[in-house]
Amino acid sequence: MAELRKNTENGIVYYTSPQLEAFRDLAHGFFTRRGGVSQGVYGSLNFRFNSNDAPDNVRENHRRAAALLGADGDRIVRTNQKHTDNIAVIRQAEEYAPPAEGVDGLITDVRGLCLTAYYADCQVVMLFDKRKKVAAIVHAGWRGVANKIVRKTVQKMTAEFGCSAADIYAAVGPSICRRCFECDSDVPETLQKAYQNAMSEYIYQDKNKWHVDLKSITYTTLINCGISPINIDISSICPRCTTSGELWWSHRRHGENRGVQAAMIMIK
Ligand SMILES: [Zn+2]
Repeated sequence: MAELRKNTENGIVYYTSPQLEAFRDLAHGFFTRRGGVSQGVYGSLNFRFNSNDAPDNVRENHRRAAALLGADGDRIVRTNQKHTDNIAVIRQAEEYAPPAEGVDGLITDVRGLCLTAYYADCQVVMLFDKRKKVAAIVHAGWRGVANKIVRKTVQKMTAEFGCSAADIYAAVGPSICRRCFECDSDVPETLQKAYQNAMSEYIYQDKNKWHVDLKSITYTTLINCGISPINIDISSICPRCTTSGELWWSHRRHGENRGVQAAMIMIK
């Protein structure tokens, strides 16, 4: 497990996984707030269409991020994420439309498609099978963790494309830390139920609140899927409490009046 690396290009500040960077046929980035055209609370690289930001600005921000990866703005595949365990397999870009009930995971082997997920505390997990050349992106907040969407994505990569966990590399972007993820008992109860009470070591109580270490759960999940620990990079950054808070929107820190970050992965 290693830390993600900070990059600045064309004014855009973004993070990359050293492990994924090593593949010349792959492009990816976990974008920050910096490098876009939006103003005010959406300043500046806002990817949130469902907001008071001008749609043209949000489109331009998407285009800039995709261009950095070497993609056209019309080759972006978006999730309409709703904390589900729905995972869409994209075999032809032209046929893709997110289902109404939401999709939180995308898998493809199509070159030049920019798989995109959004985050502002939630985890975004990228997966890449170096032999089959299959890429995936997953949005996983605590509900996604309870829904086991990361495990299900690895299983779907295997079932649909013949991927092997031994060939899969993973990167987990900046997401909320265990100190900042303060919740009521419903969250640990839901997780314990989903994981047959195997979550105790990731949950603790402080005063009358509960805390869950989602990053560690995801790390363990990836290893339990058969992915090698040395093929996993995880950002230690927490958008809520990081000292470089000007780079990040955090749902917990900013509430609803904010933009959202994007992460993109593309097979070249
Ligand atoms: Zn934090």
